[in-house]
Amino acid sequence: MKNGVDTREKQAIGLVPGSLAAIALCGLTLGGLLPGIIWKAVAIVLCGMVWLQASRKILVRMSLLQRLGYQTLCCVAFLLQPLIETDEATFAGRFMARLVVVFLWALIIAIIYNIIYKNKPKMRKKIVAGNWKMNTLPAEGVELAKGVVAGRGEVCSCVNFIVCPPFTHLAMVAEALKGSDIELGAQNCAAEAKGAYTGEVAAQMIAALGCKYVILGHSERRQYYGETSETLNKKMAQAYANGLTPIYCVGENLDEREAGKHFDVVKAQIEEVVYNLTEEQFKNLVIAYEPVWAIGTGKTATADQAQEIHAYIRKVLADKFGAAAAECPILYGGSCKPSNAAEIFAKEDVDGGLIGGAALKAEDFLAIGKGFQK
Ligand code: PEP
Repeated sequence: MKNGVDTREKQAIGLVPGSLAAIALCGLTLGGLLPGIIWKAVAIVLCGMVWLQASRKILVRMSLLQRLGYQTLCCVAFLLQPLIETDEATFAGRFMARLVVVFLWALIIAIIYNIIYKNKPKMRKKIVAGNWKMNTLPAEGVELAKGVVAGRGEVCSCVNFIVCPPFTHLAMVAEALKGSDIELGAQNCAAEAKGAYTGEVAAQMIAALGCKYVILGHSERRQYYGETSETLNKKMAQAYANGLTPIYCVGENLDEREAGKHFDVVKAQIEEVVYNLTEEQFKNLVIAYEPVWAIGTGKTATADQAQEIHAYIRKVLADKFGAAAAECPILYGGSCKPSNAAEIFAKEDVDGGLIGGAALKAEDFLAIGKGFQK
């Protein structure tokens, strides 16, 4: 996955106003052929529903070129309208003629919208990733994953859900996620490719089990297992060599925050590891800002604190990778829960969350995803 905007979302740009215009005009034009206010209203509602479904399911799957082709056809059809719509035209003829007017409106509005959007920064992927840590037995993990799959439909398809169970659950959870769009990640990987490293799990192994992501540099690993930037550079290399997208964690502890050193801490954590990536690798990176003082403590950074440091992280990334930094998802982590997710996710540089405790209950995890809908 490239870390920029979700493809479906990107192609939906321009479809929204086009669709709205189409709903109104389609309903009105078709309604114009029908007698009585009730029939006109029914026509508007039906057209709206059909058009929205078409936009969601079909049009957004087209490439930009295909959409252009489709819209050009609509335009040509419109130019042919006078040939179709005569006084003697049949009901079907008039119906067709009015339909093409609708398409033309959709085209014009979509073009204007696209022009406006061209100069705006691209939307980034919205991600809600669950870090299960060393919790749940395998069967419980499978139940949890199934719960997330079952409720996924209630959350906007624009949200990308990732679950990161313990290594021992990966194969079973992968099975439970089959057929859904929920992706799998691991919580760590070895710094070496393979060999005599008792107890370690290689990036190649987790990739073979269906993982797309791997969390690296989590503060618990830095703190309890002495992970340094040197080790993390090796782990990042292993992740990329096996097609995994790292979710690279940065964040300061309480003393550092209180001493006002949080900016310097995250800057160093990025410079020492992320700056070593190639431009291509950087396009496949997710950053998670997790203030250590907020992890598992119930204490959350305020939305403004999160925005302040996320914006700073993006600037540090831009200093090295330029415009590509605008597309890198930066997640917030640290006692994120259903009650505070919406406020934090609403901030410009917050692209979702890395969730610990609240990821252990399917309904809470999903409710956090709903934070994007508010
Ligand atoms: C985490 O450890 O990644 C985390 C964010 O934990 P919690 O949500 O429980 O604070």
